Amino acid sequence: MGKIKKIGVLTSGGDAPGMNAAIRAVVRAAIYNGCEAYGIFYGYEGLIEGNMKKMESHDVSNIIQRGGTILKTARSREFKTVEGRAKAYEQIKKVGLDGLVVIGGDGTFSGARALCQEHDLHVVGIPGTIDNDLYGTDYTIGYDTAVNTVVEAVDKIRDTASAHNRLFFIEVMGRDAGFIALRSAVATGAEAVLVPEIRTDVNDLDKYLEHDYKPHKSSGIVIVAEGDKSGGAYTIAEQISQRHPEYDVRVTVLGHIQRGGSPSAFDRVMASTLGVAAVDALLDDQTSIMVGLMNKDIVHVPFNKAIKNSKQLNHNLVGLTDILSI
Ligand code: ATP
Repeated sequence: MGKIKKIGVLTSGGDAPGMNAAIRAVVRAAIYNGCEAYGIFYGYEGLIEGNMKKMESHDVSNIIQRGGTILKTARSREFKTVEGRAKAYEQIKKVGLDGLVVIGGDGTFSGARALCQEHDLHVVGIPGTIDNDLYGTDYTIGYDTAVNTVVEAVDKIRDTASAHNRLFFIEVMGRDAGFIALRSAVATGAEAVLVPEIRTDVNDLDKYLEHDYKPHKSSGIVIVAEGDKSGGAYTIAEQISQRHPEYDVRVTVLGHIQRGGSPSAFDRVMASTLGVAAVDALLDDQTSIMVGLMNKDIVHVPFNKAIKNSKQLNHNLVGLTDILSI
């Protein structure tokens, strides 16, 4: 205890609503514990360039409710090299940072792990990505808000689908994971959901449309995860249109609205909790770990584990859409 005196914080990779709440929590928890806090701009790119500033409590006022990240984010190719990380460490030494909090996804944690393997620095990660695809935490910051954004949009599409008797294929984000798709499908009462974790067979969807959909329903919603192996909403919609010219098929790709907006209460509380937990972990001499939430408890997960393992979909939810879409 007492070793850490200057804590830097950065956001990296894709932005996610709630990152600002996490920045606020890190800065204020650092100051509360008698440390200095530094905001690093543009992720690892900014770290290499020494683009950072000392943050006071008022610098993070009025941001808890804002989407995006006041520290900006970036992807840095240079940081993936030993030389790039050595440059970053030079800047860290220049300012005298002894602790670093990185907010991002598994790429961000891979970079952080390499940095603390190569240099004398304590680094703690906070899971911040709308995709929720990080092992070792039930939720990541931004996921809940993104799901709520999808639900709001799909509810609106449902109104028009129903008015015109249309079958909509709605593509949602999530990269290689189906968490956003699955949760929003259950929440919107979607007729079907296609996720990368479960092999999509167009024949299965066809069977469902033939036996359950056609006799009972006049309109419907199929949620398609962007990483689904079917090739995305346009591809699957085209296949179904060819088989069923009688359906009035439409496609909506929700896109970047899923990344923006004011964070949900859930994301704000989680970001605040994990921000404070990250500073506590640094003060407790921990390093190369992610702080996460499992069954509502704060957990410390080694970067090695968080990066290597893949998180499973909630299988209780997988079965629900089948049961509830008859
Ligand atoms: P998201 O899930 O939102 O995309 P992410 O943190 O996974 O977030 P990435 O773009 O994969 O986003 O990673 C962010 C940054 O982390 C990269 O731009 C790069 O600078 C650094 N990084 C990623 N992978 C590595 C690696 N293997 N070694 C060193 N640095 C890495």
